[in-house]
Amino acid sequence: MNTYPKINLGIFPTPVQRLDNISKLLGCEIYIKRDDLTGVGLGGNKVRKLEYLLADAKQQGAEVVFTTGGAQSNHAMLTAACAAKLGMKAILILKKRGVTECLGNQLLEHLMGTEVIFMDTDDYADIYAEMDRMGQQLGVPYYRIPCGGSNALGCLGYVDCVREIQSQGMTFSHIICAEGSGGTMAGLSLGAKLFMPETKVHGMMVDTDPFDRITPALMREAAKLLGVDVQITADDFDLRDMCGPGYAIPSEEGNAAVSLMAQNEGIFLDPVYTGKAFAGLIRMAEEGAFKAHERVLFVHTGGAGGLFAVLKN
Ligand SMILES: *Cc1c(COP(=O)(O)O)cnc(C)c1O
Repeated sequence: MNTYPKINLGIFPTPVQRLDNISKLLGCEIYIKRDDLTGVGLGGNKVRKLEYLLADAKQQGAEVVFTTGGAQSNHAMLTAACAAKLGMKAILILKKRGVTECLGNQLLEHLMGTEVIFMDTDDYADIYAEMDRMGQQLGVPYYRIPCGGSNALGCLGYVDCVREIQSQGMTFSHIICAEGSGGTMAGLSLGAKLFMPETKVHGMMVDTDPFDRITPALMREAAKLLGVDVQITADDFDLRDMCGPGYAIPSEEGNAAVSLMAQNEGIFLDPVYTGKAFAGLIRMAEEGAFKAHERVLFVHTGGAGGLFAVLKN
């Protein structure tokens, strides 16, 4: 792991807490990994990935960092926040889909003075081409970070997270996270395979991409970066569809989970990712997927900005 440069951007380890009231309600042992408290911006999972991605950008001498996502992308906002910390310029080329007014993550980007460009396209290939066009026009070294920071290098942040959980002294039978672009789930699943083979990782899909192919492909690429020789099979990850009416469109079940968590634990989930993912955990509990003695860890991947800018359904 130590062969890849990493920049210290966040506050780690993030806390692991027992959700006492929700555990009682669901009749299971539920814990939460507070990656909503990663210490940059309003927190969130992308900081772990950016510790690797921006280190790579710096090492390559980049002065400008491009990334992309939807209009309310938490990843894009956190890329701008982390770049600001490092004295690098971030340019966000976002898909026009989602809430584009100065709300939520758009407001935070406005406060940071980030350059934001909306492109009316549904194809990321158009956006990456625009990054190259702009980068060449600027005439300075630039670095492209993919949507969600989900490439093999970004995944290493979540392989690290498994070791961090291990160092916090507790074992878990199940780890549950949201899956939006795949890097978090792939990193956790590879990390668990390498360091916590007794733990099953469950990815709650909140978008409609083919994650059954994306997840193992990212796991294999990340394993290759680490130089570990592992066979990745369908047993190494578990996926559930929690997307509901569509990506970034709140679901009734997800909103109920946001309320349950707020009312019982004073913790805020978001309607796009973590609310839907926690709704998936509740479903699993109701299906009897967790045995009484098993500990379950929910990874709170952040998303606070999205609470203030969601489409109504
Ligand atoms: C990006 C994001 C996710 C999904 O993580 P991926 O690595 O993209 O699958 C989950 N929760 C929040 C709040 C996010 O911003």
